[in-house]
Amino acid sequence: MTAKKVLIVGAGLGGLATALRLRRRGYEVEMVEMYRQAGGRLNQLTSGGFTFDMAPTFFSMSYHFDEFVRDAGIEMPFRFVQIDPLYRVNFRGKDRWYTVYRDLDRLAGQFEDIEPGFRERMGRFLASSGVLFDDVEKGVLSKNFMSLPDFMVQMTRLPVKHVPKVMRSVWSEMSRYFTSYEVRVIFSLVSFFLGATPFDTPAVYTLLSYTEMVHDGYHNVDGGMYRIVEGLLRAAEKSGIKINYNVTICGFDGPGRRNRAFIDTDGRRWEGDIFVVNADAAMFRGRVFRRPAFTDEKLDRMQWTLAPLTMYLGVKGKMDNIHHHNYFLGDRDYESYSKGIFRNKVSLEKPYYYVNANAIFNPQSAPVGCENLFILVPVPDLRFKPDWSDRERIADAVIRDLSARTGHNIEANLMTRVVLDPVDWQNMFGLYRGSGLGLGHKMTQVGGFRPSNRDEVFSNVWYTGASTIPGTGLPMVIISSKLTVQRIENEAATI
Ligand SMILES: Cc1cc2nc3c(=O)[nH]c(=O)nc-3n(C[C@H](O)[C@H](O)[C@H](O)COP(=O)(O)OP(=O)(O)OC[C@H]3O[C@@H](n4cnc5c(N)ncnc54)[C@H](O)[C@@H]3O)c2cc1C
Repeated sequence: MTAKKVLIVGAGLGGLATALRLRRRGYEVEMVEMYRQAGGRLNQLTSGGFTFDMAPTFFSMSYHFDEFVRDAGIEMPFRFVQIDPLYRVNFRGKDRWYTVYRDLDRLAGQFEDIEPGFRERMGRFLASSGVLFDDVEKGVLSKNFMSLPDFMVQMTRLPVKHVPKVMRSVWSEMSRYFTSYEVRVIFSLVSFFLGATPFDTPAVYTLLSYTEMVHDGYHNVDGGMYRIVEGLLRAAEKSGIKINYNVTICGFDGPGRRNRAFIDTDGRRWEGDIFVVNADAAMFRGRVFRRPAFTDEKLDRMQWTLAPLTMYLGVKGKMDNIHHHNYFLGDRDYESYSKGIFRNKVSLEKPYYYVNANAIFNPQSAPVGCENLFILVPVPDLRFKPDWSDRERIADAVIRDLSARTGHNIEANLMTRVVLDPVDWQNMFGLYRGSGLGLGHKMTQVGGFRPSNRDEVFSNVWYTGASTIPGTGLPMVIISSKLTVQRIENEAATI
């Protein structure tokens, strides 16, 4: 019997991981990718002698990568290194920097003066988020859901003590443990890792605080994040997986309940017995399969994560006052800023932003004596701000602000500068309205409510990646590939 052929749309991390898992199981695998190189959002950009990580700069739950390489039968293709301290935070107008250490005693040294009893409070908070983490990882993140009722039944098995955390926001959960404004802001930044704000993120996600502070922490990749993709590509090539670049799927040929082929923008057919979609699971159903439940009108009503305005700066000279991961926040209007920013209701003249100085950890990413800066400004998506003709002006303002706060004249020392706005992100990787992390994670968009990893109509189409289960971020996408492959193994015989 000849091996079944799998055609995968998208060579992001989700597509690549699924390809390698399936190849190990004997499937013939071919991939199509709209961008000129693999990795999706986990990509790389070079300019003026600098090599920039394009989006992800660290990841958590590294053991999911260990599980993946074992399952795919490949060598670990990169070396990851645990980060400690995790990051530093500065509030506009203040000289003080807060450093977030994993060690509770050192951490308490940073906050005890502004939050008396910090160590004890943080200990209680982490104990509570740890219990939550264990239950959610076992009961939700690692599970496939066959249907909404199946999901609801599985949820009833979770301890009822977690129910209030479904109702409260991350911000109100923080406020139950901490009184200091700065402490609440800093430890609710985890919401931004989900592409949302602490005011609209359910308190269930405080489990992320446990992952960063206690559990597995955060990891950097030796040589830069793109080493992950380069390693997977080597493994893919070795195992005979073919990847076709600059191919954008826009149509299909499936008159009944089986898809026969995808059609690209040049009219070419891409056939297979089984299809896996790594493109956005909601948008693909709407724009390619033309499903009435996923029209643009309906997609626009869903919750989408923040859009990125990203900047890649090569800077002459070493900057003293910068760490590998840094958050530059505003002054005391955090709540109104957070609530307004995604709806384009606050000015982007003085935005909050994140800076990664990659050369501190990976010197080869910049010429000797220079800094490699990646700046991420969370901004409104294209529903709320379609026109980005002001992007260079916003970038100028960020550069001025960063110069003032680090004491390094970045503008005068600029060797290279690339700015990408939500339109670029939309066009490069097919991100809906330029939303950076895909579908949001409010309670009605997770688990059985999230677009399923099995297609509703075609028996031979599955999905993998950030907008299907379990959610966004590199470890979640690795889990997603595992869940998708489990379903294919269980269900493909009956297609
Ligand atoms: C600015 C930013 C910073 C981030 N930082 C972090 C971080 O520090 N840590 C972390 O864990 N996560 C981070 N993330 C999230 C992380 O990047 C994503 O969750 C993850 O990379 C998604 O992988 P994926 O395979 O699901 O999707 P993608 O990476 O989007 O891959 C999907 C692929 O499908 C292709 N495609 C789409 N449509 C089509 C089509 N019609 N035809 C053909 N190909 C198509 C795309 O080009 C893409 O290559 C960040 C994301 C952004 C945007």
